Amino acid sequence: MSTKSDGWKPSTLAITAGRPSGPGDPLNQPPVLASNFLAGGADYARFGTPSSGAFEEALGAFEGGQAVAFSTGMAAAAAILDGLPAGATVLTASNIYHGVRTLLADMQSRGQLFDRTVDATDLAAVETALDGASMLWLETPSNPLIQILDLRALCELAARKGVPVAVDSTFATPVLQHPLELGATYVLHSATKYIGGHSDLMMGTVLTSPDQGELSEQILRRRSLHGAFPGAMECFLALRGLRTLVLRVQQAQSSAQVLAQRLADHPAVTRVFYPGLSSDPGHELARQQMSGFGGMLSFCVESEDAAETILTRTELIVMATSLGGVETTAERRNRWNEDAPTGLIRLSVGIEDVEDIWADLNAALQSHDLQ
Ligand SMILES: *Cc1c(COP(=O)(O)O)cnc(C)c1O
Repeated sequence: MSTKSDGWKPSTLAITAGRPSGPGDPLNQPPVLASNFLAGGADYARFGTPSSGAFEEALGAFEGGQAVAFSTGMAAAAAILDGLPAGATVLTASNIYHGVRTLLADMQSRGQLFDRTVDATDLAAVETALDGASMLWLETPSNPLIQILDLRALCELAARKGVPVAVDSTFATPVLQHPLELGATYVLHSATKYIGGHSDLMMGTVLTSPDQGELSEQILRRRSLHGAFPGAMECFLALRGLRTLVLRVQQAQSSAQVLAQRLADHPAVTRVFYPGLSSDPGHELARQQMSGFGGMLSFCVESEDAAETILTRTELIVMATSLGGVETTAERRNRWNEDAPTGLIRLSVGIEDVEDIWADLNAALQSHDLQ
């Protein structure tokens, strides 16, 4: 049966989906703080609750897939990887979230899988490396180099060899890109970041295509078996975050564009990584596969010491590792031994006034002893 809402845009569905619908029901799903239910319905909270269901319905409608919510992004990543047969080879793009990289190394060290890395901007290299792989793991835009990968081309290559593709789409959010439409098998979001959006919860989610019910069932089964189920308050807050996601992402990316351009012109800055800059290697690709360039950018200064100094001098910009919140945060990635380019600072642009963000950053960069 088709209904009026079938024609609504994803950003409208982000507001309307997941609502209770009975007369007298609350407009949005409140947190249901229950582990046990009267028999015959949800039964037991580890299998799903009204709170997780409402979040999954809204996110699924927004992204055009079936969503399964997890307690964290890492739990969501682990659920995808744990579905692979023992000894499987996972081919991963070289720049991916360090937590997932560490999880893969850990699983490899216990003989559970083989972790093979490829420069996923090199399609020919990926085509060769796909032989014998059981999964291709991509992240775009990537953390922390904001690298853009050609999802359509990579998914096509993988499909030809029957290899499922997982895409960590955390930086893009469902606002800017829909990897399922480009051929991805699994989409991962750390909902801790933009979806939650207020630095006050941890959650993750895996999305699969609506016509692949058995995949969604497998993911759901992993969640139930691992017990990686999100709490009711988290689901409630994440759904509330989802309702304003479009506005927050729009504001963050419009400011990120301004900041990236000004940073690129700044004498203390040696390099800027932001796909919104026409000089960025990912610019054309991002224009094609995303509806905007996002709120994450990275830049380099002369040395790690200079980067550290800058971060201790900012007043508005908070030095903190996480991202995707309403507040602008900055992070020196090499603090985590990440092997990022020297002096790299990653900025998660918030929704403060862009002139205040720039004034803060510019003052920290002007400091005489940086140059
Ligand atoms: C934070 C993050 C994760 C992990 O999510 P958690 O919610 O911290 O477990 C995975 N991928 C990316 C790109 C992230 O930024």
